[in-house]
Amino acid sequence: MALRLEILSQRSAAMPASSAPGPTLVSFAPTDSGATRAPAPAPIAEATPPPFVGPLPPPPAKPATWTVTDTLRRGDSIYLSLKKHKVPERQLALLDLALRKVFKPAQVRPDDYYAITLDTNDVIQHFLYTPTARPDQPVEVALRDSLLVGRRLTLPLERRTQILTVAIEDNLSNAISQAGEGDALSALLFDRIYSAVIDFQLDPRRGDRLSAVYEKLYLDGRFVRYGHVLLANYEGQQVKKIGIRYPDGEGVESYFDGKGESLGRMFLLKPLTINRITSRFNRKRFHPILKKRVPHLGTDYGAPTGTPVWTTARGKITYAGRKGSYGKMVEVTHQNGYRTRYAHLSKIYVRNGQRVQQQERIGAVGATGRATGPHLHYEIIQNGRHINPQSINRGATGQPLAKDRLPAFVQHRDKLLQLLASPQRLTAGSGD
Ligand SMILES: [Zn+2]
Repeated sequence: MALRLEILSQRSAAMPASSAPGPTLVSFAPTDSGATRAPAPAPIAEATPPPFVGPLPPPPAKPATWTVTDTLRRGDSIYLSLKKHKVPERQLALLDLALRKVFKPAQVRPDDYYAITLDTNDVIQHFLYTPTARPDQPVEVALRDSLLVGRRLTLPLERRTQILTVAIEDNLSNAISQAGEGDALSALLFDRIYSAVIDFQLDPRRGDRLSAVYEKLYLDGRFVRYGHVLLANYEGQQVKKIGIRYPDGEGVESYFDGKGESLGRMFLLKPLTINRITSRFNRKRFHPILKKRVPHLGTDYGAPTGTPVWTTARGKITYAGRKGSYGKMVEVTHQNGYRTRYAHLSKIYVRNGQRVQQQERIGAVGATGRATGPHLHYEIIQNGRHINPQSINRGATGQPLAKDRLPAFVQHRDKLLQLLASPQRLTAGSGD
């Protein structure tokens, strides 16, 4: 009987309780019969005790660590969430010290998640914090030589190339969203590729088509964000523009048309990403507050307070501060006698004398000065005369690629165009 019990207990120890089915135990029953027990091995075991080989292994005690996983809620902090799970105060202070070197508490967002492992003495062994916005860049804190050390990880993303064709019904971002893609893809097209050559308020017409070859980045099969747009092709009634991502003379990747001419210009068409123009340039406008005709020498962009405002051209800051009815205002001086002004800002991120790049963030939309609501007032002045921001790039051409680089560019272009014409391409939208 003793032998049989031993077999059974070994058996059940080797298998998880849930997967040790009854019939297996039953199959051992015959060993209980007189026939198998007859040789009585017990006396032999007594005669030759096992040789001593060293200290006994430690008993398989309770688990050496415990792990908690949780997701941050609105108003939560890492500290508050871990405190709820009874992580001791002293350990939280050590964790904070290690985290602080690689992570700012202000970066914490609701829905970020973490896993923390502590030993039986409640000493933190490992902490992994994953921001939902950047799941490929979690923050890890691990115990090394009894010290908690933090670092930011970069997990490899899987890159998938996608092809999309949409036709415009009302506007391009709606068409893209109806095709199942996000605003971030529209923003890449509006703000990165076509920002100097297509005015998406004025140029699109119903039935215009846009095709794109672009990358989507995945982590463990889940979409994380868009990679590069390799090719975009806008085929409209007012404007036709192809944009191909290719390294310029300095090796910086930017966009070129089919002939290898840059889509970049001295000025961008817009100083922000928002697409709603509330008041256009007008030399004879009736002013809603002053109740008289006051020329409107700029363009107003209605946008929520805090929307980033960027420079439309490279230059030097020649004013940054309050200026009468402009409220908080930034003025940038550019080449060829140009100046641009960005007014009614809620925040200014630059100082007088600073050099700025094209599309560098200089402030945020607000309602300071004479403004009825949050909006950006944008002006372009050339040699003392205001000009219409919407006509700034009319007739301007882009820098061409060097002649000796054209053959390689043409090859690259044709490869992408072939991909676009391939039968597996995904199509969406209507207007055929
Ligand atoms: Zn204005």
